[in-house]
Amino acid sequence: MTKLEELIAAMIEAEGPMPLDRYMALCLGHPQLGYYMTRDPFGAAGDFTTSPEISQVFGELIGVWLLNSWAALGSPKKFALIELGPGRGTLMGDILRAVKAVPEFAKGAEVHLVETSPVLRHLQKAKLGEVRWHDTVESLPAMPSFIIANEFFDALPIQQFENRAGRWFQRCIGLGNGELKMGLVPSSPVAGEEGLYEVSPVSKAIAEDLGNHIAKHGGAALVIDYGHLKSAAGDTLQALRKHEFTSVLDSPGEADITAHVDFEALAKAFISGGAELLPMLTQGQFLKAMGIDMRTEKLAAKLEGQALEDFKAASNRLADAAQMGNLFKVMAVAQKVRQPIYPFEET
Ligand code: SAH
Repeated sequence: MTKLEELIAAMIEAEGPMPLDRYMALCLGHPQLGYYMTRDPFGAAGDFTTSPEISQVFGELIGVWLLNSWAALGSPKKFALIELGPGRGTLMGDILRAVKAVPEFAKGAEVHLVETSPVLRHLQKAKLGEVRWHDTVESLPAMPSFIIANEFFDALPIQQFENRAGRWFQRCIGLGNGELKMGLVPSSPVAGEEGLYEVSPVSKAIAEDLGNHIAKHGGAALVIDYGHLKSAAGDTLQALRKHEFTSVLDSPGEADITAHVDFEALAKAFISGGAELLPMLTQGQFLKAMGIDMRTEKLAAKLEGQALEDFKAASNRLADAAQMGNLFKVMAVAQKVRQPIYPFEET
């Protein structure tokens, strides 16, 4: 039993079954024992890999998108360049290298990171130097803001509700023979037919805050994650450890627990905060429109042998429909805009 498991079992003993979002928040974010608080989870030696860790091209193309949207929104002189959940700081590093092409952007950008993990803040500082850190989005600066979030929202806690023949239940963690067990507790109704529904009140609150921030101060946000464009019934909760799926109840605090992002719900929250939604794309569509093939070819010209093969395979992994290209979606929101922001255009 992990220390965190003992603690959670004691809490359940004292307070009764624990809703899934509370459990997930403890597993990932308990100040001393939470998954992200204690480790660098990325790469071959870790539990999972993310797009910026796969290829530098990912961050470079996002940098180009930022340059373009900044120009489309009037090239504000001073603005915040914000990343939510920056991991090792790799994405921001690649972005900052790409935006050097436009000195007014590079000079005007003040980098702000929203990060709760002290271990990852340390890595971010080593990579990016002295930037500004925030525990939550509430303290973001009052200036035009260009915000990016890659694989951030999937790490935020969800609740699960189930409609069984018209009766509603919430999935909670309880105890059976001293061990953690998933169970159902009667709940008030949630919208939906027979089936299992996921909601993320934390994601909703953050998206609303950001929507409001953008409406008030100007700017845009780019959210990239695995998930679905339309809200639908289904269980997407998953735990990953050493690149393998495991039970969410197994070794709390030692595995990464995530859920697919419900982009429809997230979009609604950004809109209710006041931001404008642009048409959504898959990661493959976005990267191809941003020129992943050209950029890959250009960099590949300097490589040969295995390094060349690996580099080309990495770009392919990001954009290919059968790999990350379709599962991952890209959503952009902005202040009220009079013109489309490339490549998010009505078809
Ligand atoms: N964007 C990075 C890392 C994704 S992992 C990449 O693509 O490689 C999720 C990141 O979000 C980690 O940096 C984690 O510490 C951070 N995180 C998770 N929950 C958070 C929360 N509630 N508030 C702020 N950061 C959080």
